[in-house]
Amino acid sequence: MGRHVVYYSEKFVLSDDSFDTTRKAAWVAASLAEEPIPGVVLAEPAPIPLQSAAAVHTPAYLDALRTGSPAVLANSPNIAWDKNTLVRSLITCGGMLDAGRSAMKNRVAGCLASGFHHARKDRGKGYCTLNGLAIAAQALAEGGRNHILVLDLDAHCGGGTHSAIQGHVRLWQIDVSVNSYDCYQPGPRGLLQVVTDARQYLKTVWRCLQHAEAEWPLFSLCLYNAGMDVHEDCQNGGLAGMDELIITLREEMVFQWCAERGIPIAYALAGGYTGGKMTTKRLVNLHRLTQAGAGWG
Ligand SMILES: [Zn+2]
Repeated sequence: MGRHVVYYSEKFVLSDDSFDTTRKAAWVAASLAEEPIPGVVLAEPAPIPLQSAAAVHTPAYLDALRTGSPAVLANSPNIAWDKNTLVRSLITCGGMLDAGRSAMKNRVAGCLASGFHHARKDRGKGYCTLNGLAIAAQALAEGGRNHILVLDLDAHCGGGTHSAIQGHVRLWQIDVSVNSYDCYQPGPRGLLQVVTDARQYLKTVWRCLQHAEAEWPLFSLCLYNAGMDVHEDCQNGGLAGMDELIITLREEMVFQWCAERGIPIAYALAGGYTGGKMTTKRLVNLHRLTQAGAGWG
């Protein structure tokens, strides 16, 4: 089983506003320390400089995240603003960028951050502050001929990523969702499918990957938004019939597809929420399926 670096910083969970998106990176890191997955090595990422965030986000929005004003913009991610909001967001994006760079050298890497794909250029949305997927994709596509695929299998659609990267000729997006929240009209470099029957889920992911292989250029990197909120017991997003087995098979399919084609892959945690039958322990175990799948890719 291959070794892969997973980026995590205690600063990922600096937010005063406490809920899954602002805490679960620490839960997964603690679980990895307690019960290691062979090959997974945790590493501290570097924050991205403000100018890298400015390649995607507007000065007015970044200023609101720094100062807390205007409040409507500073709180637009639906995470209560505090004085560490910008610091936290810059380092989660740094984790994604470092994972992308590490994957391009070592084939596979990960980042324990979540909360990227709904963030727009000019505001946050749906627990997403800065769009680390768009920022990393843009930074890693620049200065070369790298084509980069954003593969978004979170339960919800990645409308923020779409709006941030759609004009870029080397950035591509496959989005298979089970919920129409943040839905959008994909352009020529995008595919969006909203699955409503769990029996069609794996087939749909596979068809999208096959379409990309047949019609699109060879990718230098895949940035994978590995949401676990597709699970049927996840009250925010889940689809009936989506169980651990389907998600395990999904992770194996994604990492194998990349490995067989020599495409480096860097993943982020993305969605997955506690509540009802979804305990913290179960949620952490779902996210561990990604780390385990990455090892077999
Ligand atoms: Zn989601």
